[in-house]
Amino acid sequence: MSFPTLPVETREILIGGRWRRCGRMMELSDPSTGQPLAQVPRGSAEDIDEAVEAARAAQHGAWGMADATERGRVLTRIGKLVLEVEDVLAELEARDVGKPLAQARADVKALARYLEFYGGAADKIHGETLPFRNGYTVYTLREPHGVTGHIVPWNYPMQIIGRSVGAALAMGNSCVLKPAEEACLTAIAFARIAEEAGLPAGALNLVPGVGEEAGAALSAHPGVNHLSFTGSVPTGSLVQAAAAKNVVPVTLELGGKSPQIVFADADLDAALPLLVKAGIQNAGQTCSAASRILVHASRMGEVLDRMGAAYAALRVGPAMADLECGPLVSARQKHLVDRHLARAKTLEIAGQGEIVADAPKEGWYVAPTLLICPDPQHSLAQEEVFGPVQVVIPFETEEEAVAIANGTDYGLVAGVWTESGARQMRMAKALRAGQVFLNDYGAGGGVELPFGGVGKSGHGREKGFEALYGFSSLKTVAAKHG
Ligand code: NAD
Repeated sequence: MSFPTLPVETREILIGGRWRRCGRMMELSDPSTGQPLAQVPRGSAEDIDEAVEAARAAQHGAWGMADATERGRVLTRIGKLVLEVEDVLAELEARDVGKPLAQARADVKALARYLEFYGGAADKIHGETLPFRNGYTVYTLREPHGVTGHIVPWNYPMQIIGRSVGAALAMGNSCVLKPAEEACLTAIAFARIAEEAGLPAGALNLVPGVGEEAGAALSAHPGVNHLSFTGSVPTGSLVQAAAAKNVVPVTLELGGKSPQIVFADADLDAALPLLVKAGIQNAGQTCSAASRILVHASRMGEVLDRMGAAYAALRVGPAMADLECGPLVSARQKHLVDRHLARAKTLEIAGQGEIVADAPKEGWYVAPTLLICPDPQHSLAQEEVFGPVQVVIPFETEEEAVAIANGTDYGLVAGVWTESGARQMRMAKALRAGQVFLNDYGAGGGVELPFGGVGKSGHGREKGFEALYGFSSLKTVAAKHG
């Protein structure tokens, strides 16, 4: 398999099964060193036009003709090949995004698991027969939308490609994938792997590029039948507005300010390691990061002492050093996080990690910081920081905990830590979020579990079987036969 290996220089984009030269290039940087890492294509609106056309043609070609079982087999093969090249993919992702190598490895496994799951599911999703008047037979068919556009961010490229492209292909759509300009090496590698696994020409088309160019062109393209966008709220809103002009459905997976609620009866031994991990994983650049820790006032002292000690043991360094935390993805992201921290000057620091002495000075490192934030309206408790920063907010009553937890514009994920079964059930109902975890957080990635937000966290669901419904259109057939 011809594969991008570091340092990468590739000029080619994949359109209709052909890798062809792209007129312009863009540079990717290594967040661990701040130095150039790769030269990759910078696709244009014209490239998007061609990619959409090729995707449409694939609907009338081998991919459109493939039955559900065959689609599933191809996806399963891609998943197996992904695992065969785990080392290469993990290094590409670690160097490109700046994430510690072990976390990049986990992302490779998650990508493979998505393909295994959607490969297996492809021929198990079906319509229904519906009881209707005498003399009729009525049934539903699940059909692909046709051409689906996938705009992917830089923080978890492999996982997000797995959950959106994997599900779209399983339902028989043809995809145009636009990865992020900050990190797109594993997207390029994924397209090579899919080709090697026998995915027919045009089923997956890849156009790396800049958001305002290739991304905007894809969102506004009249030939696209469904858009899946993962990224920030302002961009998601632009994508939805562009799609509205073409009356195209959009799945928006946006940001979050996800609360973890620790009640007085919580098992702190179980909770605390997960709370810290859920805050600093991928240097906090995770949409579902546990960025707000709500703690019952009676346990504040213990939680702060123990989390503070855990923070003091966190080391930050280059991705390939594989410490607990890596750099942020870009100078821009570091600037944004530093700006948030500057606004936190009045807040007490309960714990801070350490940037290792030999981390390159030009890398985009931020020391993980745990802050005590008594005011739930403080900007640090309201706005998504997207860096290794968690705030601890005290509460007295269950009602207050619900009000604070639901008191932001977001609603992606929430966690509740309590031994009381009745309280677990009440909280699960009261919390405004797409996912609620009880005495857990993230459920190990949960490929099978529908994921998405309410409020400014977005709408539509990916992951699990729900994604397959989202990436298909339901047709009702009513036959009158007397
Ligand atoms: P972003 O919105 O800047 O970029 C995301 C993608 O959109 C990139 O591919 C980019 O090129 C593209 N884009 C940029 N401008 C565009 C435009 N005008 N038209 C079309 N596409 C455009 O987001 P980001 O800063 O890269 O990612 C961070 C955000 O993503 C955070 O808010 C985070 O919470 C969110 N996120 C959400 C999830 C989720 O599943 N809910 C997962 C990961 C990240």
